[in-house]
Amino acid sequence: MTLFRKKALVWIRAKASSILSWNDLCTQIKDVFSPISEQQAARDRLDALKQTNSVNTFASEFRRLTLLLPKLPEQELIDKFVRKLKIPIAKEVYLRDPQTIDEAMRIAERVDMISWRLRDHSSNQLPPMNPRIAFANDQSVPMDISAIQTKRLTDKERAYLLANQGCLYCRKTQAGHFARNCPDKLRKN
Ligand SMILES: [Zn+2]
Repeated sequence: MTLFRKKALVWIRAKASSILSWNDLCTQIKDVFSPISEQQAARDRLDALKQTNSVNTFASEFRRLTLLLPKLPEQELIDKFVRKLKIPIAKEVYLRDPQTIDEAMRIAERVDMISWRLRDHSSNQLPPMNPRIAFANDQSVPMDISAIQTKRLTDKERAYLLANQGCLYCRKTQAGHFARNCPDKLRKN
């Protein structure tokens, strides 16, 4: 309490009974004492903020700025966050319907990480983000990549894939890899 100057101490004594937790205290202190200009600056930066690089960098900045502001309702926070993501990532987050901002950030970071990994395997083209692949480890979504491979290729399909730099395993055209180092195959083994 010695950290607080007199004015703050008077305020905190008056509020003591309504403060429920350390977080609550921090929020209330911020609301009352952080200068309006500081909050306004944070709000302006938050408005201008969007994901241009990794989700990780964006999410830490988003978190830092929102902590400077009076606490927003969770749904509003999630909505602000998702709208500022790159569209393919935002889509995946919306599909998963997160209930907390932490969950939204986790999903976004995971999708980002997975799409980077897929990009490593295929230099020509990023495979379409497929929720089945993106959340392959998530038990709520059955992984059924093998079903795609059970049907044998016809000669025509095979010729078509070969003519279009396709992969004979995952059967994507312009795959940028061969069947032997297909990321789908490596993931399965
Ligand atoms: Zn492949």
